[in-house]
Amino acid sequence: MAVQQNRKTPSKRNMRRSHDALVAENPNECSNCGELRRPHHVCPSCGHYDGRQVYSVVQEVDLEDDAA
Ligand SMILES: [Zn+2]
Repeated sequence: MAVQQNRKTPSKRNMRRSHDALVAENPNECSNCGELRRPHHVCPSCGHYDGRQVYSVVQEVDLEDDAA
């Protein structure tokens, strides 16, 4: 296993970390419902992609209503 022989200077450490910043997502508007969605991903709120329904989104079920 490679073992580091010398400690990196803070300058070298910071130079390495200069590429570590997170990049913000670039959401698009869904063409069906207008909700923001990730590019090249199915819309999570309506299940559409590329102008067609990929999966149906089930409305949230209230468990307490069902039990009664
Ligand atoms: Zn949508």
